[in-house]
Amino acid sequence: MRFEPELVGGHVVLDLLNTVAWRLDPDRWVDRIAEPGARDDWLRAVGLTPAPSDLTVLRETAYRVLQPVAVGAKPEGVDELRELMVAAVGKARIAQLNPLRWQADDPVTELTLATWRLLEDEDLGRLRQCQDDDCGWLFLDRSKNGSRRWCSSADCGNRARAKRHYRRTHP
Ligand SMILES: [Zn+2]
Repeated sequence: MRFEPELVGGHVVLDLLNTVAWRLDPDRWVDRIAEPGARDDWLRAVGLTPAPSDLTVLRETAYRVLQPVAVGAKPEGVDELRELMVAAVGKARIAQLNPLRWQADDPVTELTLATWRLLEDEDLGRLRQCQDDDCGWLFLDRSKNGSRRWCSSADCGNRARAKRHYRRTHP
């Protein structure tokens, strides 16, 4: 079965972090790209060339840095992420000089460089964690008034509305 990822993070690295579903619920936590076929489907969906690669180390290291930022806590794993980024630059070539653009042949290196760009270029004040208790997905809130609460209003947003409705009608 083909894996059709939901790309709702607003940045490829956040979409990578969101390949873990139900991140905040140990009973339901699931790695959606654990199988090579699913991993390749995900890489294709974000425009990268599928290749045998372990995305887990980058994903979990970047998560330890970015999730606390999203909730206003102190990031962890910054040194580990730094090591990954330095190694990625070591493997990349300069595709364009002005503005500088790195390019690599393998998806892990590309995604590590994308993590650097996320930290350098994006307004992390807009980084949010979905307000569902168990979801844990991260996204950049690009809404004008900064009011986005859910990874997906059709999914977690809908569930929250249903829950509120249930509480109102079942006092
Ligand atoms: Zn969610």
